Amino acid sequence: MAKYVYLFHEGGAEMRSLLGGKGANLAEMTKIGLPVPPGMTISTEACREYYESGQQLPDGLAEEIKRNLVTLEKNVGKELGNVDNPLLISVRSGAVFSMPGMMDTILNLGLNEQTVKSMARLTGNLCFAYDSYRRFIQMFSDVVLEIPKHDFEHILSKEKERQGVTYDQELSADALRSLIDQFKSLVKERLGRPFPEDPMEQLFMAVEAVFRSWNNDRAIIYRNLNKIDHNLGTAVNIQSMVFGNMGDDSGTGVAFTRNPSTGENVLYGEYLTNAQGEDVVAGIRTPRPIAKLAEEMPAVYQQFSTIARTLEKHYKNLQDIEFTVEKGKLYMLQTRNGKRTAQAGIRIAHDLAMEGLISKNDALLLIEAAQLDHLLHRQIDSEAKLTVLAKGLPASPGAASGQVVFDSDEAERLGKSGQKVLLVRTETTPDDIHGIVAAQGILTSRGGMTSHAAVVARGMGKPCVCGCEAIKIDYAKQEFSVDGTVVKAGDLVSIDGAAGRVILGNVPMKDPVLSKEYLTLLSWADDVRRLQVRANADTPEDALKAREFGAAGVGLCRTEHMFMGQERLPHVQQMILAETTEERLEALQALLPMQESDFYGILKAMAGYPVCIRLLDPPLHEFLPSLEELLVETATLRATGQEPERLRSRELLLRKVRALHEFNPMLGHRGCRLGISFPEIYEMQIQAICNAAARLSKEGVQVLPEIEVPLTIDKSEMVFFKEKIDRIAQETMQQYGVTFHYTSGTMIELPRAALLADELAEVSDFFSFGTNDLTQTTLGFSRDDAEGKFLSDYLNLKILKDNPFITLDRRGVGQLMQIAVEKGRRVRPDLLIGICGEHGGEANSVQFCHEIGLDFVSCSPYRVPIARLAAAQAAISTGESYGTR
Ligand code: ADP
Ligand code: MG
Ligand code: MG
Repeated sequence: MAKYVYLFHEGGAEMRSLLGGKGANLAEMTKIGLPVPPGMTISTEACREYYESGQQLPDGLAEEIKRNLVTLEKNVGKELGNVDNPLLISVRSGAVFSMPGMMDTILNLGLNEQTVKSMARLTGNLCFAYDSYRRFIQMFSDVVLEIPKHDFEHILSKEKERQGVTYDQELSADALRSLIDQFKSLVKERLGRPFPEDPMEQLFMAVEAVFRSWNNDRAIIYRNLNKIDHNLGTAVNIQSMVFGNMGDDSGTGVAFTRNPSTGENVLYGEYLTNAQGEDVVAGIRTPRPIAKLAEEMPAVYQQFSTIARTLEKHYKNLQDIEFTVEKGKLYMLQTRNGKRTAQAGIRIAHDLAMEGLISKNDALLLIEAAQLDHLLHRQIDSEAKLTVLAKGLPASPGAASGQVVFDSDEAERLGKSGQKVLLVRTETTPDDIHGIVAAQGILTSRGGMTSHAAVVARGMGKPCVCGCEAIKIDYAKQEFSVDGTVVKAGDLVSIDGAAGRVILGNVPMKDPVLSKEYLTLLSWADDVRRLQVRANADTPEDALKAREFGAAGVGLCRTEHMFMGQERLPHVQQMILAETTEERLEALQALLPMQESDFYGILKAMAGYPVCIRLLDPPLHEFLPSLEELLVETATLRATGQEPERLRSRELLLRKVRALHEFNPMLGHRGCRLGISFPEIYEMQIQAICNAAARLSKEGVQVLPEIEVPLTIDKSEMVFFKEKIDRIAQETMQQYGVTFHYTSGTMIELPRAALLADELAEVSDFFSFGTNDLTQTTLGFSRDDAEGKFLSDYLNLKILKDNPFITLDRRGVGQLMQIAVEKGRRVRPDLLIGICGEHGGEANSVQFCHEIGLDFVSCSPYRVPIARLAAAQAAISTGESYGTR
């Protein structure tokens, strides 16, 4: 007989996949002796079986729950439904991966007309008993009976209005009693039957509702967004209640062991006295900072901070803790690894290692490589003059500007059409996820640092200001006002999430300053990684930026950008229009010095490091005006009859554009096919590279050019070009009277090249995988068409798990890469192999590149730090870190 139910003392942190995160950690905290209200966890396996059997509770589960409930009741000395001594419980969902705010908890289950009286008698507190009961009805009706929360909140605010009070806890016993009755008649009206009175029935309905909630819309959206498997299922935690709403010596709170926004090593959180459960995060009352607890309940604070330390030491990570104080006694209700900003993530990993809690390698593994991206975001220029409208809580750092939008659907719509929006709400709920995703930043007028908006924004690395009570939002008028200033939907507003400022209009930004912890961690990463990290750079400025970020060379220098610009384009067009080789050579001669000065600058900026220069790649028509443009212009010129000279030249161009038209440019006359048809173009480029290398060598600068031929499919292409490269290099060295080191090789970006890599290796010093084209040609997807038209269908239907242009397709494209590496190295063991293009800066792909033995990855300068860290993580996780740690 399968075991589905585990009492807290039977579990532990290692049972996470069976008990869910919440259950496993409740068990772990119980095991290490912390004050956790007793309870039990129904496993995720039970949930999976529930779905497999067409939404039926698995056989034997009901009996098992009842049996364990008896043990629980003995343990706490109370009984579910017992009039003398009623046990109240919470029913909490808890998946393997924490899904904030996705599945709601039911508190105070076990209350009915009888037990509510017992609770009042036992506590001598009628208000408390009624308050607990009305909360229970509200939560149960929402989660289990699926009657909209909103309807109950409406009744509640009407009642508060009638009583002339602002806060829930000011309601009198009579008012609460009346609320309960109103709630119950609403249920009866909607359901056609009364609210369930039998506690056991309540319990089983609740358990099944938790299983069902695994597949509610919000949960599905969240899982899709975070790539969480839909088949994992959720566990259910049944736990005896403790009450934070028993008066001013009671309360409830949430705290992080360190500041999740900055990483500073101080307890960070908030609490509310005389409150229960979600009150802290729901933004109903603005909670107090945890430091105040030291004044209000010093003993409790002491105990709490000791427990926080214990938990951090135990889990070796930042903890996010929920607690409740019942009449001066502290209870732990949850702990989990805390979400944090990128900035805090760095500082915490660094500090934990320095405090000796973890090793340096563990510190590196603690950081999410992709998160480093956020650190490189721009900040508001501190010199700038700003019109600060208001100040709220600094909930998630970074600066954002956008047009004000009050509605998440609208935010999504505008965001999709490429507009920058700032989502402004009184508070957010899980129903706003899509709006938050689409927005540059989030501004709320209510809620604390642990409110939904704040938590979600920090997780996504989006700037957020919350609890900004000075702004008065009027959804109906689509505007908010601050001290007489009215801001309408569509107006530009900026927020500064690090300082909590709300600013009118756009703001000037500047590049971020990187912390010393950040630099230290990256130096630890450099110590253990094997992969070299280079950057893609097309200009001397980019090359310098790349050096700043720690790139050890240029992995891809695209020369086509050097064919653009007002000064050059006329020569390029003349070259394309040339009818004879002589004419073409003339145009190329004009381009030569310009190209040479480009290469000179880049090679100089990268002195001592390799620079891989790719010969011209795009089809020639990309350098000509578009067909439409020319048609309009020639028609106009013809109609006016003026400027006959220009008309003739435009007509010539038009003819050329028509001649160069391609049905499928991606597979057309591009790459080294240009060099085959027009060798003089490639010769000019090779000459420019060699001239620059020779001049710099003469000046004593060490240069390491790598001349790269794009889009090859066959060894004979390489033979054709290699002859030219070697000849021109030799001639140039002789002419300048210097020698310089150079190599020649090819990009592997077509399946045929990968399959014939052994032959190509005979005439190549290096390979560089161009995985964008290799993905296009392996899948037969043209990227723009795929991403613009059908790729989202593939992702939605889960035919493909990830966008292959973002995360390398290991099974297909990766297999071709593996073949190329293996065949290439068989022929030439010292073959240098790298990857250039976007995948080179994506953590998962970097991991793969490490695994198949590449020498370097190359990515945009801003992603170099990510690649450095990802390369270190790959080395550590495959157990082959190269340093001493
Ligand atoms: P979530 O995952 O949304 O945080 P939880 O299950 O943690 O949901 O519970 C919601 C709120 O109810 C939290 O504030 C939690 O501390 C509180 N809570 C849960 N179980 C109990 C309990 N047995 N006694 C008192 N408060 C509880
Ligand atoms: Mg919740
Ligand atoms: Mg919780």
